[in-house]
Amino acid sequence: MAERSIGEVALFREAFPEMTDEIVKMLHAESDEAFAEQFAGLRYYGRCLCTPTCRALSTDSRRRVSGLMVMLPTEEPVFWLDVDSAGAAVLAIEVLDGRTVEPPLGMGTV
Ligand SMILES: [Zn+2]
Repeated sequence: MAERSIGEVALFREAFPEMTDEIVKMLHAESDEAFAEQFAGLRYYGRCLCTPTCRALSTDSRRRVSGLMVMLPTEEPVFWLDVDSAGAAVLAIEVLDGRTVEPPLGMGTV
């Protein structure tokens, strides 16, 4: 595993490797290559704190809600990607299937 310097934010794909594989596969299936490529470098900034029950995982330190969502897959969505108003950057990932979304210890504690 790569050394991480103190204070560096974990990569989303390191915190949630299986979920990342799943999402990237879905993005390829939808031909959303621009979003798929972002998952190589997305950071994990912890759970969204907007409400105690929010299940979104923040991938953008600014976490501004734009209201634009990409549903994966489009029928019976499992994930919602919360994207910026330009539809370019992934801001958060919402997990809709009720699975546990805890990263490894020490990751995402910003
Ligand atoms: Zn939230």
